[in-house]
Amino acid sequence: MPSAIHWFRRDLRITDNTALHAAATAFSTVVPCYVLSTWRASHGWTGSKRQQFLCDSLRSLSANLEALCSRLIIRAGDAVEELITLARETGAEAIYFNRDPDLFGKAVEARLRARCQETGIQCLGFKDAVLHEASEALTGSGQPYRVFTPYSKNWLALPKARPLGKITSLGSVANATSLPLPTLEHWGLSLPSDAQIPPAGERAARDRMKAFIETGILDRYGVDRNLPAGQTTSCLSQDLRFGLISIRELYARCQERAAQHPAAAGSILTYTKELAWREFYMAILHHYPEVLDREFNPDLRNIEWPGTEENFQAWATARTGFPIVDAGMRQLLTTGLMHNRVRMIVAMFLTKDLHLDWRLGEQFFHQHLVDAEIASNNGGWQWSAGTGADAAPYFRIQNPWTQTLRYDPEGRYIKHWLPELANVPPERFCEPPKDNRPLVPGYPLPMVDHSVERDRTLARFKAGKG
Ligand SMILES: Cc1cc2nc3c(=O)[nH]c(=O)nc-3n(C[C@H](O)[C@H](O)[C@H](O)COP(=O)(O)OP(=O)(O)OC[C@H]3O[C@@H](n4cnc5c(N)ncnc54)[C@H](O)[C@@H]3O)c2cc1C
Repeated sequence: MPSAIHWFRRDLRITDNTALHAAATAFSTVVPCYVLSTWRASHGWTGSKRQQFLCDSLRSLSANLEALCSRLIIRAGDAVEELITLARETGAEAIYFNRDPDLFGKAVEARLRARCQETGIQCLGFKDAVLHEASEALTGSGQPYRVFTPYSKNWLALPKARPLGKITSLGSVANATSLPLPTLEHWGLSLPSDAQIPPAGERAARDRMKAFIETGILDRYGVDRNLPAGQTTSCLSQDLRFGLISIRELYARCQERAAQHPAAAGSILTYTKELAWREFYMAILHHYPEVLDREFNPDLRNIEWPGTEENFQAWATARTGFPIVDAGMRQLLTTGLMHNRVRMIVAMFLTKDLHLDWRLGEQFFHQHLVDAEIASNNGGWQWSAGTGADAAPYFRIQNPWTQTLRYDPEGRYIKHWLPELANVPPERFCEPPKDNRPLVPGYPLPMVDHSVERDRTLARFKAGKG
């Protein structure tokens, strides 16, 4: 029976999966495969929370495939060689996959294409992770956008693909051998005992999507999204990152909601624009891959970052004495996630109050985030540092105290993540302690004076600006 391999990557679902659907339409047997990376704990961009989410998602995918009388084949090693070997073992004529928007994934695809050509295996890549790939949303003269607003106007106006129907059969995978489903041991990692990562897998992600759209959180998104306490946003970033839900289905469901609830259309448009930010940063990374090492803005490539290791450690361990910053870092360390407004606050604090290089923060986030996305993380850090595409201008420096007053005036978010401050009156989170006494015994005093550091940053940027 003619068969094809479907190479699962960041598309760990069976619903509305473009390449899987295409493979199942063209071949009576599809061999679903995931290739584990072989790096160990020393990899500088990873950590246990995201890998645990991956392990849990693979377990769920495996069960979903079994319900279709199929089987997830797990291999480990160099993805290209493993796929070619699997094709030989199973007699597969083709390898199907969904294209990866990031540089590293694209480089593997290029190697796979070359090996498939040598060995006479068909190799088919599909658009799936995004609504619009980097080459689709370009200026009138065919150039990439450098600024979000015109990009988003173009992006919004482009026709969007509809979700695909359900897969009913993948055939049965008889003879392929598989490694067991992975655990963190495969990478030499272990999960901290207090970790609380979100439930993984397609079902959990679909439940989150349904709850966000149907319980009214989406309808209020335009008003509430900057408030970090409680659920005010979709909490779907890790699901988009691992492809547990399809971006086409999410978009289509939002449009349906807007049609049924016209009063919420403004909020839904605001939400849709956030999905465009995700693809804007992917396009920036595609067209300007140098952003991974350097500032997007060439004028700001000589800025000095004289912060100290000691200060970095205080930030990384949630001991800055700025409650909003420490609450955000505690949320990150525990859950692998952080509300967007707080990500901006902690990132500006690291780069503008502690004068530490945004690349250090980017790496730390990469190690801890369950939703770490190379393009969005780089974009978010460069935005906060003032060096990125369409970034906050460097002289617009957020004040963590006034940000707290604006977005967490009752201290609900702070008290949730710093329960040791539960009995502190919330107004005390909105200004430095006047009496120079800690908020509670054991909680640090603010490690810096924001207004002094702000002036130092302005001078530092002025001096380094090209
Ligand atoms: C310093 C910093 C680092 C960040 N790192 C990441 C990261 O590694 N991965 C990641 O997915 N997002 C990152 N973001 C963007 C944003 O904080 C998260 O996408 C968001 O908090 C996820 O929560 P949500 O799903 O509830 O978002 P919602 O507010 O519900 O937004 C919906 C979706 O839109 C996308 N999105 C929203 N805001 C942005 C944005 N500013 N940039 C890109 N995409 C966005 C996400 O896919 C998100 O799930 C970062 C932001 C900053 C400031």
